[in-house]
Parts: sequence; C-alpha cells; structure tokens
Amino acid sequence: MAKTPVAKNQELTVTVSDLTYEGMGVAKVDGYPLFIEGALPGEEVVAHVVKAEKKFAFARLAKLVTTSPDRVAPKAKAYAQTGIAPLQHLAYPAQLRFKQNQIVQLYKKAHLDITVLPTLGMAQPYGYRNKAQVPVRMVDGQLTTGFYKRRSHDLLPLEDFYIQDPKIDQAILVVRDLLRQYGVSAYDERTNTGVIRHIMVRRGYYSQQMMIVLVSTTWAIPHLDEIVTGISKALPETASIMLNLNNRKTNVILGKKTRNLFGHDYLEDQLLGSTFRISPLSFYQVNPQQTEVLYQQAIERAELTGKEVVIDAYSGIGTISLTMAKHAKEVHGVEIVPEAVHDAQENARLNGIKNADFVVGQAETVMEQWAAQGRQADVVMVDPPRKGLAPEFVAAVGKMLPPKVVYVSCNPATLARDISALQEFGYHAVQTQPVDMFPQTTSIESVTVLQR
Ligand code: SAH
Repeated sequence: MAKTPVAKNQELTVTVSDLTYEGMGVAKVDGYPLFIEGALPGEEVVAHVVKAEKKFAFARLAKLVTTSPDRVAPKAKAYAQTGIAPLQHLAYPAQLRFKQNQIVQLYKKAHLDITVLPTLGMAQPYGYRNKAQVPVRMVDGQLTTGFYKRRSHDLLPLEDFYIQDPKIDQAILVVRDLLRQYGVSAYDERTNTGVIRHIMVRRGYYSQQMMIVLVSTTWAIPHLDEIVTGISKALPETASIMLNLNNRKTNVILGKKTRNLFGHDYLEDQLLGSTFRISPLSFYQVNPQQTEVLYQQAIERAELTGKEVVIDAYSGIGTISLTMAKHAKEVHGVEIVPEAVHDAQENARLNGIKNADFVVGQAETVMEQWAAQGRQADVVMVDPPRKGLAPEFVAAVGKMLPPKVVYVSCNPATLARDISALQEFGYHAVQTQPVDMFPQTTSIESVTVLQR
C-alpha cells in the first residue's frame, strides 16, 4: 500500500481551516485534508487519525488546544453520535453564516457571479420539526425507540430528539409504551423478523392535530384494537392513526400500502392562511414556521401581479401552487407521487381555488410535452429533490423560455449546476436568499430567481 501523509492512530496538532458541507472540521497537512468531527474553523486541535486514505484521512478530536468563539456547549452527545444535530456545537449565528458561505463557495467554483444574502434564521432554532420517523428495535429484549448511530444501523435509545416538536417526542413514548405493554415485537433487520419497523408522527403546527403511522411487517399486529384505543385516549390530539405495510428487506421506511385505523386518513394543517390535507405518503415541509418564510420569499421574488401563468414543478400537495394561485391567473402543478397530486386537488377544492390544476407525472417528461405543444408560462417554479433538475427539464425550459424561473433548492451543489445549465439559454440570477429550514443540521435551503 502506498504511504499516506498521516498514519492510523497518529496524533498531530493541526489548525482547522474550514467546515465541510457535512459539518466536519478540515485541517490540511501539506495539502492533505484531515476531516475532524466536532472541530471548528480557527481552532487548534490535537487530532487522532482514525482512518487514513490515499487522498484524505478521518480523525477524532482528541483535544482542543484553542477554542473558537463560535463554539457553544453541545446539548447532548447523542445528537452528534446519531447525526440528528451535527452542528449543535456551533453557535446559531455562525450556523447561518456557514450556510450562506457554503453557497458562496459553490458559486465561486462554478464561476457564478450571484450575491448570496444572509441566511434567514429562526428565533428558536430547535423543537421545530413537525415530523418524526423513528426506528423501532429490540434493545436488551425490550422494544425501544431512538435513532441510528451515524453510518450504522445500531439503535441508540433516545427520548428527547431536541429538534422535534416536543409533543411528537411525547407521542412516540406513548406508542412505545403501549407496544411494550401488549408485547408487540420490534423488527430485526438481520433476520428480517419481528413486527414494528418505524413509528412516524406528524403534527400540524397550527392545527395541532397529530397523525400516527405504525410501519409494520404485517397487517396482523397483536392487540391492535387495544393499542389504537390506548393511543387515541392518551393523545387527544390524534386525528389519524394509520398502519403502513412494509415487509420488504429495504432501507426505505414506508411501504406502498396504508390502512386507516382511527380518524381520518389524512392530517390537516395551515400554511399562510390556507388549509392543507396531507396523506401519509405525501411530502410536506418539516419546518412549518420557516416554510412560510421560504414561500413568502418565493412569492415576492416571483413578482406576481395576478396576470401570470405559472407552472409549479415538483408541486407535492400543492402548498406553493395554491399560495401562488391567489396572486396569479392560473397555476399548473406537476408531481410524481399520485397520493400527493390527489391531496393537491383536494386542497384546491378545500380552499375554493379554481385556477390551479395538477397532473401526475415526471416533471421532466411533462415539461417536455408542454414545451412541444407550444404551451407558455410566465413563471416556472421549481422545488426539486436533492438531485436537482433533470437535464431534460432544463432542455424543456430552454424550449419554452419562460421569462422567469424561481428555483427553491435544498441542495446548493445541484443548484449551482442547474443555474450554469440555464445560463446557456440566456438566464441569469442576481441574488440567492438562503432560508434556514433545518437548524442544527447542515442542510441548506434557498430561493433564487432566474430571468432572461
Ligand atoms: N413544493 C412542494 C414539494 C417539494 S419536495 C412543497 O414545498 O411542499 C419535492 C417534490 O418533488 C416531492 O413531492 C417529490 O415527490 C417530487 N418529485 C421527486 N421527483 C420528481 C420528478 N421527477 N417529477 C416530479 N416530481 C418529483
């Protein structure tokens, strides 16, 4: 094996120069990067090499020699071990600067001259998540809820999840205790046996309604009626209890089939004054307070006057579409998950919105068809998953040539790539506005308007 600049178990004193997009400290040893979990830029640390590869090494933070002024006391070790809150040791204002700077660096690399505004953050950057999906496993012979340790499937028992709505934490414990009481077994990944795999809980920030989903390997859960009654009695906010069947050997949390056990088969919540129904399989933004900030930014930046034809690609349950429909002539949404499209249509009806319609399909395929048919739009709104826009989607925009593309992004790397691709069609952006949807984590959300 070729010699690496540092060796496993070596201890060396280094100065941290940067943070990776995963929130790890980076120190360079003669240009060779050392990734140190928990270390912050500006700090001098003693690093203990855990793994040395040809081009980089991972090290453990053995000792802090000097401390960054941005360092704060972490809430609990578990949040670093599980990766629930990988930035918990970084002061919140510094987290916001870190996110802004990540986009600045990516734009620089892509030779994009776009101003990145300061990240819009939260007043209380914890307890914000409206959704939890916690794994359920047997630990010491007992059904236990918690979270996986980083880069593993070892369950760390956990009761307070810090970044989740505390009412959700409480609900998980109620469900856990009932499952224990009735002797229901937890799933075992190695042997592919046992019953309960995950508990998913969603809670409406405004509605305060709760949906509880038991993800199970079987429809036949012992004492199911008693458990359902127990949950609804202990948690009066419960508006829906669902059973999701997942009997495949997979890391995907939810299976395709869901059955209603109690109440409605959807959860209701409000955003910017509209009401939304959310099915268990539909996407719904996890930080409701910041979602309103994000959408408001997108709507303001789209500069709608009431006359525009808008396409909302990756429209989910229609939250952006229906909010924009109030300020536009018409909105056409496209989304790949049929349940979400059904929710979006239902949501239009529920809010008395008649100028929005939705189709099920791949955004790239449907955009290509629309462009080929000569359909026009004034604004194309996109909110793709982490992998960003498909090349076919960009090509279809290049054919349709809407005056404005409003890009909501949850991954600045693919955002920079897609902006570069859209530049080929004469689009340019002036500003990007980051909005912190995921405090204490490294995820970065932003809004950018591109114009021709
Ligand atoms: N705009 C919505 C949803 C954004 S999340 C909101 O803010 O709530 C991204 C959405 O894109 C998800 O609903 C996902 O199901 C959908 N999606 C993923 N790949 C897609 C594709 N190729 N075509 C259309 N929709 C897709």
